[in-house]
Amino acid sequence: MLIDSHCHLDYFTETERPAVLARAAAAGVGEMVTIGTSLAQSQQAVAMAAAAANVWACVGVHPHNAGGEGGVPAAETIAALTVHPKVIGIGESGLDYFYDKAPRDVQAANFAAHIRAAQLTDLPLAIHARDADEDIASMLEAAYAERPFSFLLHCFSSGRGLAERALAIGGYVSFSGILTFPKSDDLRAIARDVPADRVLVETDSPYLAPVPLRGKRNEPANTVHTARVLAGVLGLSEPALADLTSQNFRRLFTKAA
Ligand SMILES: [Zn+2]
Ligand SMILES: [Zn+2]
Repeated sequence: MLIDSHCHLDYFTETERPAVLARAAAAGVGEMVTIGTSLAQSQQAVAMAAAAANVWACVGVHPHNAGGEGGVPAAETIAALTVHPKVIGIGESGLDYFYDKAPRDVQAANFAAHIRAAQLTDLPLAIHARDADEDIASMLEAAYAERPFSFLLHCFSSGRGLAERALAIGGYVSFSGILTFPKSDDLRAIARDVPADRVLVETDSPYLAPVPLRGKRNEPANTVHTARVLAGVLGLSEPALADLTSQNFRRLFTKAA
């Protein structure tokens, strides 16, 4: 069984969602985590996780939305959203200097609040990193030195240096459909070198459909395509890759029991 460690079910309509979940099950994607991108959407994510046995939720504010909804949330506000038993992590949060949709100092304050929430709750933090490798790494290292916490770099597409610095402080790395793209040789080389006990797979659906579905709307069932490529990169059978990434998922997301 595969687990899609990062998707956005709230981007599908209520009428589409049952079919999306059914296609995931038919493809062998037995569980998924739907991820909040604002406080309001996080509440929707919790409701979706509450409504389906195999859906988990993370709660947080995406860097694109940093500073919205009345300002950067307090860590305690984020932590309070995690009391539901189906909420297994914080996020997504991080830094995105490619789109720069929010000012960088506001993104940093938002990311810091999420790191603090991860420290307060002992739940892992799902991190969005785009064109911000140095600032992500230095914020993680400084916070980790104060108080260790667990995290994953979701939809990894950054440089090798960020992967290495994250791994050095216990981080996990999750690969999306980007791993399947023809031009992703550098990314596949990084994936090959990530320790086997630190890799996860995800879709980040509805975005980033993998080969052979590029250009279409992505959905959790398509985790299989990324998993197949990752299995090839790591020299594993597809069932072994599924077992490995699911074990890694449970070790990181300790609440997903
Ligand atoms: Zn993201
Ligand atoms: Zn996402």
